[in-house]
Amino acid sequence: MAEKKIPLSKEQLGALTERFPTPFHIYDERGIRENARRLKAAFSWNAGFKEYFAVKAAPNPFLMKILTAEGFGSDCSSFPELLLSESVGVVGEDIIFTSNDTPAYEYKKAKELGAIINLDDISHIQYLEDEVGLPDLVCCRYNPGPLKGGNAIIGHPEEAKYGFTREQLFEGYRILCDKGVKRFGLHTMVASNELDGSYFVETAHLLFELVAELSAELDIEFEFVNIGGGIGIPYKPEDEAVDLEAVGEGIRKLYEEWIIGKGLKPLDLRMECGRMVTGPYGYLVSRVLHKKNTYKQFVGLDACMVDLMRPAMYGAYHHITVPGKEAAPLDLVCDVTGSLCENNDKFAIDRAIPQVDIGDLVVIHDAGAHGHSMGFNYNAKLRSAELLLREDGEVVEIRRAETVEDHFATLDFEGLRGFQA
Ligand SMILES: *Cc1c(COP(=O)(O)O)cnc(C)c1O
Repeated sequence: MAEKKIPLSKEQLGALTERFPTPFHIYDERGIRENARRLKAAFSWNAGFKEYFAVKAAPNPFLMKILTAEGFGSDCSSFPELLLSESVGVVGEDIIFTSNDTPAYEYKKAKELGAIINLDDISHIQYLEDEVGLPDLVCCRYNPGPLKGGNAIIGHPEEAKYGFTREQLFEGYRILCDKGVKRFGLHTMVASNELDGSYFVETAHLLFELVAELSAELDIEFEFVNIGGGIGIPYKPEDEAVDLEAVGEGIRKLYEEWIIGKGLKPLDLRMECGRMVTGPYGYLVSRVLHKKNTYKQFVGLDACMVDLMRPAMYGAYHHITVPGKEAAPLDLVCDVTGSLCENNDKFAIDRAIPQVDIGDLVVIHDAGAHGHSMGFNYNAKLRSAELLLREDGEVVEIRRAETVEDHFATLDFEGLRGFQA
């Protein structure tokens, strides 16, 4: 069971909304830090263990700075994400650049920063060499295809656009060797939002075996394996969080067998989780704007799909609580909606919540990853602010709400005046 609590009381939230109008996202620094320490502890048996936070999950430099202080690196997938990482002083091999369909200027920036470049395709070896030059250290992304079953969000590996086939990996590392690359890593990511911990143990197993085979066949040494991200979080109250300690221990046993047991060079274990790092510690705080009763009951919020698109995009469940009404019976079955002119702009469908009144605060849980960052501006909706609840109880604004001026900044109203329609 996952307890769905809010780190602020109804009164504290109410006071906060006088400083910061709803809707806003708020992150809980204490929760993020404690969780980060737990993750590190679960893998402390591996001297070189490192988590590279998947920046796309919550690309806010304040959050990144907290995670950097906890010893995490950055997993970047685009030029702006590389800049964000640089802005918090995370450079060099504390960055892994895992992108796909990558433009040359992004590779160039990654190489300039000394980031670990993780290639998505065999053809990118030549592309990287031609456009930017090959770095000393290269990582390749493996797609196990039919060797590995799929998972709901990422799909079956053979349908996924990511990574090298097994044959291409052997060929790819051989080409890299011939071109003078000396240092190697191996990466895969085959699950997203996966709550079954054994999935990650199997993924490590897959990579350890492959490292043993590649090392033997090509006479090369690997420095690390990166098992990707994808650790799920208990979005539903009845879900069970992944037992990190059991995953750590399961991977340790396989490491002893496949790496130490086979006399291979010690290997650093890396991962690049996003969701499980910040997801449960972010809340979307909104207010009931309207109630509507037609063929169904609707509770309309002042937040909408641009603040959190997961329910509309994947039918994802996000728990909803009404501060101050935690103990009230859940006797209002309704659709909880936003205001976009899209009928899928619903945070919940046929959800039982307490009876709410117009003006009540409503908190949507587990919005701390792939929440604000997936935001968009359809219907010319403006993106909400991000706040941080510090460990001492202070609340700081770490991103202000967008204004109309921000939204129109790319339009040329000057030019419009002289433009004849
Ligand atoms: C999205 C992504 C991650 C992070 O995934 P989470 O589900 O947030 O843990 C890590 N690595 C790659 C390559 C990704 O695409």
